[in-house]
Amino acid sequence: MGEGIELNLRDVWFEYTPSKPVIKGVSVSVRGERIGIVGQNGSGKTTLLSILMGFQRPKAGEVMINGINPWTEREKIIKTFNPAFEKARLPYAMKVGEFVKIVGRANGDPEGTSALADELGLSKFESQKVGSLSSGQEQLLWIFSALADSSRIPVLDEPFVHLDLHSYVRVSSVLRRRFRSYILTSHIPEDVELLADSIIVLEQGRVIWYGKVKELQADGEVYDVFINDTVPPLKGILGDFGNILVVRTEGETLKRLMDGGKILGYKRSGVRYVYVKANGGNLH
Ligand code: ADP
Repeated sequence: MGEGIELNLRDVWFEYTPSKPVIKGVSVSVRGERIGIVGQNGSGKTTLLSILMGFQRPKAGEVMINGINPWTEREKIIKTFNPAFEKARLPYAMKVGEFVKIVGRANGDPEGTSALADELGLSKFESQKVGSLSSGQEQLLWIFSALADSSRIPVLDEPFVHLDLHSYVRVSSVLRRRFRSYILTSHIPEDVELLADSIIVLEQGRVIWYGKVKELQADGEVYDVFINDTVPPLKGILGDFGNILVVRTEGETLKRLMDGGKILGYKRSGVRYVYVKANGGNLH
């Protein structure tokens, strides 16, 4: 549910260690429903999310989210958002099934909560102790706790890191179908390109791009091209991401190469092209 998300940040700075800023003058105005924050490891995604949720106080600058100042109005933040960070504190001695029941009683909707647990695939290990779960199962459990309260906007930090394909499908489909609004972070471009309508790209504590996914993919002649171990006969390669090349070319050329088995596939480029532009095409 939720009513959309409006972020207004002006020249926000943050440091854990004096004189070593990790958020460096971030200014963004984003209005959307599904916000994705993407960046490499250490680019500041978790820190930015912590600031947005009022867990950390910015050293300087102004932060407003849905008209709320997260540091001074934490009660409002807690009422509006339901954050789940990777380092979740789960009750390790409890069985998964018991935890699901407690969450259901706490949010006043035991049936809906139990249905959500089924939908996410938690019932398969309901008799297991939380402390005995694999990292993927544990991640699924903390995602469940962020999605169990439909009156608040879920805020998920790297929700897909440990998930297998099946769990990824379940979580993304619950997000899509049950929630109008959410915020998530990921280091994988596709996660945000597919699941968000508005994207913030972070690099080393700075915003290198923000806006709507549609604008991100507005350059219709730049593609992410999926290759195997042979480099295809292509001109206009702008960036090299291992098995994915960022290429400026015509869709027809790529279709021909794909039909001829020279490439595996292609899609409009988005976040990768932002990296290419920010780094002058030299990514390694
Ligand atoms: P991301 O979520 O994009 O991986 P983080 O926000 O976790 O990035 O980290 C941004 C930077 O801040 C990194 O350089 C990281 O080492 C540093 N950092 C994160 N947490 C702490 C902390 N508690 N103390 C000191 N430095 C930290």
